Amino acid sequence: MVKLTFYGGVREIGGNKVLLEDDKGKLFLDFGYPYSKYRRFYEEYLKPRAGAGLLDLLVMGLLPHLEGIYRTDLDTGNLWQQFRRAEHYRKLEDIDGVLLTHAHLDHSGHISFLREDIPVYSTATTAFIAKAIQDSGKADFDQQVCYFTPRMEECPKGWRQGAYFASGSGDRQRRFGVADRSRLSAEAERFWGEVIRQKKLDSQPLDDIGKCRLSLRCFPVDHSIPGACAWGIETSSGWVVYSGDLRLHGKRAKLTEAFMKEARQLQPRALILEGTNVNKATNIAEKEVYQNAFKVISDARDLVIADFPARDVDRLLTFLQVARDTKRKLAILPKDAYLLKTMRLLEPEIPDIAEEDAIVLYQETTASRSPAQWLKKTYEEYSSKLVLARDVASNQSDFILCFSFWDLNELPSVQPRAGSLYVFSSSEPHNEEQQMDFWRLHQWLERFGLRGFGLPVEKDAVWEIPDEEKGLHASGHACGPDLLRVASEIQPEILIPVHSEKPEFYKDSLSDSGINIILPSEGGTVEI
Ligand SMILES: [Zn+2]
Repeated sequence: MVKLTFYGGVREIGGNKVLLEDDKGKLFLDFGYPYSKYRRFYEEYLKPRAGAGLLDLLVMGLLPHLEGIYRTDLDTGNLWQQFRRAEHYRKLEDIDGVLLTHAHLDHSGHISFLREDIPVYSTATTAFIAKAIQDSGKADFDQQVCYFTPRMEECPKGWRQGAYFASGSGDRQRRFGVADRSRLSAEAERFWGEVIRQKKLDSQPLDDIGKCRLSLRCFPVDHSIPGACAWGIETSSGWVVYSGDLRLHGKRAKLTEAFMKEARQLQPRALILEGTNVNKATNIAEKEVYQNAFKVISDARDLVIADFPARDVDRLLTFLQVARDTKRKLAILPKDAYLLKTMRLLEPEIPDIAEEDAIVLYQETTASRSPAQWLKKTYEEYSSKLVLARDVASNQSDFILCFSFWDLNELPSVQPRAGSLYVFSSSEPHNEEQQMDFWRLHQWLERFGLRGFGLPVEKDAVWEIPDEEKGLHASGHACGPDLLRVASEIQPEILIPVHSEKPEFYKDSLSDSGINIILPSEGGTVEI
């Protein structure tokens, strides 16, 4: 008997945490950050307290009540007493690992809290992107996926002990295992060991994961971040296949097609399938994004600002092509440059920034004399490519500036001329906070006289992109009909939808397919 317990990703988009238990081993399928659960209680300036260790997360229901799987430095001796009567409380110590599908935080973020000796298995690209995101971002204590600062119990002199203080002894790494290649270049190994002295990245043959005796398959798939994969686990009840997030309309659609064929051959007992876009009837392909963006940008006279998702390397390459074809320079931020450089360690076909005439680096305005290590190195490496706000200001028609909402505070230095273009190439707002941000974005555009294109506008409290400006964003997720194709081609005996606000879609649409649809409940177990 195999048990699947769903601690996250149930009627929510993201936060996937699925525990698979068999006599042969116990694995988590992703261990994600549950954005929608956080939003109920927290916002930018109201966050779980790092000094309270695991307490806030456990009390507020953001982490499953599973004693034994979390970092011991975040756990005082009697922390668990109050949770032992909680509904889904369990003592669980012998976890063999986490199978991570991709580096988006809604799948990886809460790895931060897991014991550092619990190995994480992913593709090399996912491991590298996870590290690049952490190196170049402001990772809070609940998003430290690759390494973390252990907490200690001694407090500063004169204080009473009441919290966990960051230890001065430096960061500690986690065990990451690479599932899709046996060797990394020396340069790639060096990247993995930078910033903190990380242990060598393990390259694990998949039939040899720790004490775990489950056979595994890792299938690369197409999603809006490189390195995404689905997993297959051979259990005593047959193969269980977990899709992660996927699509059939991106640049790497062939990967998802190959996954469907290979997964079908396994004749899986169960398929755990995402359902983000079950309500969408069609997709926009990345090719169309290029065509539509090229059309509107080639007509633009002054500055062009392009707003697209930060880790979507395919989208960055789409805008790079538009920049080449409209004889502009793509001005990217240092964190984008760092990500591209990281990707190139594994995928040599990614352009080399130093050699690519159409890329420059926008140097952000800062008052700090000592930038972080990664930033210092990035600026040094590409010093001949740096442009300042004033360079952009005086040659506006030469640039496509890759800014998102969070970079708008640079505009007083850039001084875009009235009539400059703001191209929005990302998803529509999903909640009230994001709607507020869009309202604010419109205020910025008005302040500088910018022309928005592809931007959601409010009509009767609904935010939508005007019909004539659609087609600038290819979603990372397959639309409803494509998801049904994935299900019927793989043809599992059981289908369990996750990562969806409307899992009933599968029940309604696949009633005659011979597939048994089981809707999971939060903390509930499905036995197969
Ligand atoms: Zn996701």
